[in-house]
Amino acid sequence: MNKKIPCLDLKGQHQQIKKEVFEAFEKVYEQTAFSGGHFVEEFEKNFAGFCDTKYAVGVNNGTTALHLAMLALGIGAGDEVIIPANTFIATAWGVSYTGATPVFVDCDRDTWEMDTSRLEAKITSKTKAVIGVHLYGQPFDIQAAKNICKQHNLFLIEDAAQAQGARYLGKPVGGFGEMACFSFYPGKNLGACGEAGGLTTNNEDYYKHLQSLRNHGSVVRYYHDEIGYNMRMGGLEGASLTIKLKFLPDWNKKRKEIAGKYQKGIKNPKIKMQIQPSGHDSVFHLFVVTTEKRDELLKFLNEKNIFPGLHYPVPCHLQKAYTSLGYKKGDFPNSEYLADHCLSLPMYAELSDEDVDYVIDTLNSY
Ligand SMILES: *Cc1c(COP(=O)(O)O)cnc(C)c1O
Repeated sequence: MNKKIPCLDLKGQHQQIKKEVFEAFEKVYEQTAFSGGHFVEEFEKNFAGFCDTKYAVGVNNGTTALHLAMLALGIGAGDEVIIPANTFIATAWGVSYTGATPVFVDCDRDTWEMDTSRLEAKITSKTKAVIGVHLYGQPFDIQAAKNICKQHNLFLIEDAAQAQGARYLGKPVGGFGEMACFSFYPGKNLGACGEAGGLTTNNEDYYKHLQSLRNHGSVVRYYHDEIGYNMRMGGLEGASLTIKLKFLPDWNKKRKEIAGKYQKGIKNPKIKMQIQPSGHDSVFHLFVVTTEKRDELLKFLNEKNIFPGLHYPVPCHLQKAYTSLGYKKGDFPNSEYLADHCLSLPMYAELSDEDVDYVIDTLNSY
């Protein structure tokens, strides 16, 4: 194949909706509703409906959503929050920004999601919460995590940044914990034309507190009840998200079809795929595989014009930013194995059948 097949290409999606998005931008412009306002509120209402939750709060990015979730729960210095070692680093940032300490737990060998059987061993008198991540778009074992959190009086938060529209036992993610945090970074399944994020919750107190925290700690303009932040969502982002949300079910369906083709078509014993327990309905933000000689396979694919991604090459506990926490290689073997052996295959709704077949055939010839 002469043309390059990247891990992700956002052009097709944005060509498809360009006219509609530009018309919406014009409305935002006419109304000068650039920060918060009507277009953000409209998206919040639609997104809460989509997630089957009572409330949604739009913010400026997904990392902010995690930070604000911690603040709304009263988490701060001296507290510990358990998170998977195998995730994008931002899951840990939200905890660290408050002065609390992220405590890492390994992932499961087969599902690659947080290993809930290792959760209890991480709980101390300082533990306040668990943030589970629906990594690669696949729900983690929510029921097991919920049971443990309930038993030990801990908050459960969903990091659903990669999983807009994923379902657990038939219900959309976003309403299983105290709050769920979403990223609408352009590369996510639902991405804004710009930076954005959001939270969903069924709890009115959290909802009101989050609205105030993102807006300078203010409910009545120029009266500040606590130290707050400027973390509002922009109007252009909100308007683009309302349009894209309409397309999301189709785009996710397309991703699932591509994933199904990969799962059926890749028949190379050197390549392993993520195990999907029944009822854990993924939206395949990423399609990650592992192989013993990762760099060799990467080179082989690059030579055939296929350019996979690496998610993620260094697990959180071995990041330089967290050396002070004292973790070392060998602490979380499954997460470390993934980091050294993972590859993310091309995955986006506009991938053609021909491209998918080409990727499958090439992998099978390796
Ligand atoms: C993308 C992502 C975030 C952070 O979202 P941003 O909008 O980039 O700040 C957090 N957690 C996970 C798992 C993510 O993939």
